[in-house]
Amino acid sequence: MPLGVKNKMKIKKDDVVVVIAGADKGKKGRVIEAIPAEERVIVEKVNIVKRHQRPTPQQRQGGIIEREAKFAASNVAIFCSKCDKAVRIGAKILEDGTKVRICRKCGEMLDD
Ligand SMILES: [Zn+2]
Repeated sequence: MPLGVKNKMKIKKDDVVVVIAGADKGKKGRVIEAIPAEERVIVEKVNIVKRHQRPTPQQRQGGIIEREAKFAASNVAIFCSKCDKAVRIGAKILEDGTKVRICRKCGEMLDD
């Protein structure tokens, strides 16, 4: 396999996605971070982990911090606002040569 072909993750930062597998199945959220090298994503309010924070001189209380953890990008699908559901995405080349992602169902362009 030629270099550069492998990590072809379709999910990008700021995409709205729906979780299609795992404990958070059905949840919808915005992609905070996309990590193509690992084919993982961090999605707003999805895959929340609790971390115990030790008290520090600055913050005496310590306590539990909740934050999103990264997980496999294959567990999410792009949400199409026009179809109002998770959809498969396709690609389209515009007249000026720009490649954009489209909803395979309704053809709605998913990139600006
Ligand atoms: Zn659509």
